[in-house]
Amino acid sequence: MKSNYKIIIVITILLLILSVTISVANYMVSLKSTQTHLKTQSLPLSIDNIYTEIQKHLIEPYLVSSMMANDTFLKDWIVHEEENVGKIAKYLDSIKNKYEMLTAFLVSEKSHKYYTHNGYLEEVKKDNPTNQWYFKFKNTPKSHEINLDFNENFTNTLIMFINFKIYDDNYNFIGATGIGIEISYIDEMLRMFKKNYHLNVYFLNEDGKVVLTRQNKEAYSHLNEMKELKKYRDQIISKDTSMIEYEKNGEEYLLKTKYIPELDIYLVVEAKLNDFDKEATQVFYFNLIISLIFTLLFAIIIMFVLRNYHRKLEILADFDSLTEIPNRRNFNTKFEQFLSLHKRDERPICLVFMDIDDFKSINDELGHNIGDEVLIQVAKILKNRVRKTDLLSRWGGEEFTIAFIDTNINDAHTITQKIREAIEKNETLKKTVGYNLTASFGLTACNEYDTIDTVISRADKAMYEAKQHGKNRVVLARSAVSEESS
Ligand code: GH3
Ligand code: MG
Ligand code: MG
Repeated sequence: MKSNYKIIIVITILLLILSVTISVANYMVSLKSTQTHLKTQSLPLSIDNIYTEIQKHLIEPYLVSSMMANDTFLKDWIVHEEENVGKIAKYLDSIKNKYEMLTAFLVSEKSHKYYTHNGYLEEVKKDNPTNQWYFKFKNTPKSHEINLDFNENFTNTLIMFINFKIYDDNYNFIGATGIGIEISYIDEMLRMFKKNYHLNVYFLNEDGKVVLTRQNKEAYSHLNEMKELKKYRDQIISKDTSMIEYEKNGEEYLLKTKYIPELDIYLVVEAKLNDFDKEATQVFYFNLIISLIFTLLFAIIIMFVLRNYHRKLEILADFDSLTEIPNRRNFNTKFEQFLSLHKRDERPICLVFMDIDDFKSINDELGHNIGDEVLIQVAKILKNRVRKTDLLSRWGGEEFTIAFIDTNINDAHTITQKIREAIEKNETLKKTVGYNLTASFGLTACNEYDTIDTVISRADKAMYEAKQHGKNRVVLARSAVSEESS
């Protein structure tokens, strides 16, 4: 059994090594593929999605602003000294409502008056920071621009203004018009990217200022604050798309950028590799636990199979397969133990050697199968007659031995006689062979000088005597009182 445990331990260790190796290998492969997937699919796709989303939300407001700048009513109204503010307010209000904008506005270059859907709002002044956009825009060569701005005149959320210059028929600059829309959808989109895809998205302007990001505490406001990224500035603030790998606080990050020409800003999508490896790590632990459980189960199954197999082998080695009683080998081992106990404790042991009479003729006349059947039935009679504490064996052929433990010679003789009678009078045996089957017995008591061989040999001789004296009898070994009975 010891070697069984060794085999199980070796197999278990091998299985453990195998399952751990496979799990680790899988983990490495999935880490690699996660990162590849991130680089080649997730990041580029996210960039494209965000870009498409922004374009989708830009086109309509852009067209509306452009239409306003070219509207003859609007141009005429400015040219005609901005008479009847109610008219322009109504116009701007209808634009605002029709296209569900946050605001529609007009600034006249001549009067510097700022009109909205509510009418006249204020005069734009160079020294008013909230009016700076107008003077900056006026001085650019661009016919239009998109501004991302907080405007306290409206809500305090980020607003996207699409500004168009207005020219009169002689291409003189006469003012600016456009619309403002709340871009909370961008914030929602950025949140969604973070929540669903673990991607951090933000926008930088030409100066490296963060113009748009998820409203959270740890958000940076300028590229200069991101010390790990500062050195990649030229790569990030670039019209060419790029992929950057960098480390922050001991964690690896992947970053992809794209220039958005419509807004003149730079879109940055950032992924913390660890967030993506998490899933692979979870799968790794799951796989590991499952394979360990299976290894353990497997080891237990092997243990049971081996134990069962071992037991069967023991039975095969110790029992006679025909009669299912112990064989000579088993008898010898146990008898030897009892013999040494007998010598130490002086407990009486007697041995019987039994041989079926005329068995050869049964085989010859009735066939081997009947012979076997007789052996099985005789073994059954013996088994029923001897106590559990006694030893019984099929010695070989049609010979059986019985060791009566803790039994004196007189008692052993009585029992042996009963066995002899039981065989002779057994009806089943009689039916099987057609006459009263008999057996001859040699009986001897063990003494302190005995070995198995001497005891067996004495009992065997006594049995031989029984044969010579007409069979079907019990003969006590010569050293003891010889007794015959029939
Ligand atoms: P005796 O009365 O002197 O003992 O004569 P016997 O015929 O019983 O003795 P012998 O030794 O001549 O014959 C024993 C026979 O038992 C010979 C052998 O073929 C047969 N035998 C031995 N083992 C088996 C067995 O497992 N099955 C069967 N059917 N026969 C067996
Ligand atoms: Mg024989
Ligand atoms: Mg015989």
